[in-house]
Amino acid sequence: MADVVVIGLGAMGSAAASCLAASGHRVSAFDRFTPPHVHGSSHGHSRIFRQAYWEDIRYVPLLFRARELWHRLERDGGKQLVHVTGGLMISPPDGQLAQRSAESARQFDLPHQVLSARELMRRWPVFVVDGDHIALLEHNAGYLVPELCIEQQLAQAARSGAELHFNEPVLEWTASPSGAVAVRTALSRYESDYLVITAGPWAPQTLAELGLPLRVTRQVVFWFEPREPIGRYRDLPIYLYESSDGAPVLYGFPLTGPSSEGVKAAVHGSTELCTPETARREIRSEEEQAMRARLANTLPSLAGRLLRAETCLYTMTPDENFILGAHPLHPSVLLAAGFSGHGFKFAPVIGELLSDLVANRKPSFDIAMFSPSRFAPA
Ligand SMILES: Cc1cc2nc3c(=O)[nH]c(=O)nc-3n(C[C@H](O)[C@H](O)[C@H](O)COP(=O)(O)OP(=O)(O)OC[C@H]3O[C@@H](n4cnc5c(N)ncnc54)[C@H](O)[C@@H]3O)c2cc1C
Repeated sequence: MADVVVIGLGAMGSAAASCLAASGHRVSAFDRFTPPHVHGSSHGHSRIFRQAYWEDIRYVPLLFRARELWHRLERDGGKQLVHVTGGLMISPPDGQLAQRSAESARQFDLPHQVLSARELMRRWPVFVVDGDHIALLEHNAGYLVPELCIEQQLAQAARSGAELHFNEPVLEWTASPSGAVAVRTALSRYESDYLVITAGPWAPQTLAELGLPLRVTRQVVFWFEPREPIGRYRDLPIYLYESSDGAPVLYGFPLTGPSSEGVKAAVHGSTELCTPETARREIRSEEEQAMRARLANTLPSLAGRLLRAETCLYTMTPDENFILGAHPLHPSVLLAAGFSGHGFKFAPVIGELLSDLVANRKPSFDIAMFSPSRFAPA
């Protein structure tokens, strides 16, 4: 069994620490804050979980395993993590979201239905959809509560013997030609056989020498008090809505907490570049107005009083596929980064894959598409 240091205990790092420690490795893991926290990519009370993957069907087998692992974590910790609401992917007739999701649902036998615009509006009258739009309803989609998921992964890691160091940023890491790795924090220096780097939006700075083409972008999410009885938003599926004018996808959730918290919605993929240190955390009134304009056409009753808005960070790769694998220059340094705004649902399977890599086991899934070398040839 190996000594493994993990940098970052957010979604992916807590999953990795948990899986590595459960496999018998000696794990020392560090975070610059005390996760779950609001400075990175894993806060905001909800993350969509869906398996009919319009982005690329190669993700679907990983999602089957992720679902199993989320359920295992639920059983072990005694807390519900996966909330099944159903999921709607809504598209214009020449769109991709519903069409490609339906293709992947058919191919992998995922329970689903294709709905006309009329049927969609009959079942969930809060939506206003052009008559020629279609929706793919994935029955087992829903959402995860990210803060609780991270708490549970950390608890599991600690139970399995991982040493968790919170509020202890790693200031520097090094790898020697023999393969031994070391990290320096403000408090001490630690040596290990393997280093796992799961630094989320800090990845560009943690991996600066590789020059990976990662872009960190600032995203804004909103919680509104609807203008009609909020109960109508309680049984809503999670949804993604592709606009016919090519505007970024609108997505949202049912009411997931008490009525006083409101209903969450956002647009996927602002391109405002930042770092975690420079990200503008206040929300401008133009941003609120743009969101209201977007909802006016689609969920007109949602944009009542704004109750809350917050920022969160994506770490984008050029092809929007993840980075997962060995550092091209240092085989004992393993990277998981660039989750491009869709990684949370995969966290436990990413932890398991990192654990396979540490054990030098052939990963259970083909991860060639995630190779760090596609951007940073050795
Ligand atoms: C608004 C928003 C909505 C999203 N919606 C979805 C969704 O619906 N479904 C979905 O699947 N995904 C979604 N995502 C994407 C998903 O949340 C991210 O892909 C995922 O959370 C990334 O996890 P991570 O572990 O890479 O980063 P993080 O969870 O941010 O963790 C990185 C950790 O590394 C620590 N760290 C960094 N540098 C150091 C250092 N030097 N020393 C010590 N610690 C360090 C940080 O403190 C942090 O805790 C969304 C993201 C955002 C922002």
